[in-house]
Amino acid sequence: MTVFKHKKYLGQNFLKNKSVLNKICCINDLKNQIVIEIGPGKGYLTKKILEKKPRKIYLIEKDHSLKPYLLKIIQEDPKRFEIFFDDALKIDLRSFSDQKFFLVSNLPYNIASTLIVKWLKNIKIFKSLVVMVQKEVAERFVAKAGTKLYGRISVLIQAFSHVKKKLDVDPEHFFPKPKIKSSVIEITPKQKISIDYEKLNRTLKIAFIHRRKTLKNNFKKVDFDIEKFLIKNQLSLNTRPQEVSKDNYVKLSIELFR
Ligand code: SAM
Repeated sequence: MTVFKHKKYLGQNFLKNKSVLNKICCINDLKNQIVIEIGPGKGYLTKKILEKKPRKIYLIEKDHSLKPYLLKIIQEDPKRFEIFFDDALKIDLRSFSDQKFFLVSNLPYNIASTLIVKWLKNIKIFKSLVVMVQKEVAERFVAKAGTKLYGRISVLIQAFSHVKKKLDVDPEHFFPKPKIKSSVIEITPKQKISIDYEKLNRTLKIAFIHRRKTLKNNFKKVDFDIEKFLIKNQLSLNTRPQEVSKDNYVKLSIELFR
């Protein structure tokens, strides 16, 4: 095997700590389940997933030079695996199975939020998503109204799922060592979802266009009586976007695009 060179632009910080790898795979019982792993890298997490005896593991890796490492693991139990060397951003996960599946992954940091937001649109295909992301991204996902990190992504993710931070992971557990801390989160789809993703997203884009300004100001150019909405929902006319709860944003999206 030729010497492998880690590619920073692909977020190749491989998780080496066996205890952390094991904790990630124990968050759900994966036995006989269908599991998708995005970015298996050299397969450290893949090996741990395999130990849990899932029915099928789908691997999606963009970097072809990792093929020899991954094929070696697949050879241990070829029937259980399917591997695709492709860009996860371009793949529609709905095509993998008609049954719900688990996604377990140490995501490439530069595209983690984009991938998760993309998956939210079809969240019902997952049993749950257990993903490692940058700690600050995890904190944005779980942030509550009125806090500094609360924003468009917090509302979107919390409208469609229950999101929980499971553990923090220090940089020394990776090779090469990243500059930032990481966290493992679990995203579980809500049972009943009757929210229109596009309408909510468009509402949030208007609402958060200027974080420091009031919601009233951000809706200035929109043909909608935002004052009436604020009064009806007992919100001050000076309310800023980060002070509005997820439920009020859902209401706002319904009224705005009635
Ligand atoms: N799962 C491994 C681990 O825990 O050690 C590696 C995780 S590493 C943070 C991210 C992996 O995602 C790398 O293997 C990288 O090549 C891969 N990757 C980066 N961008 C990708 C993309 N767009 N689609 C699929 N895989 C990608």
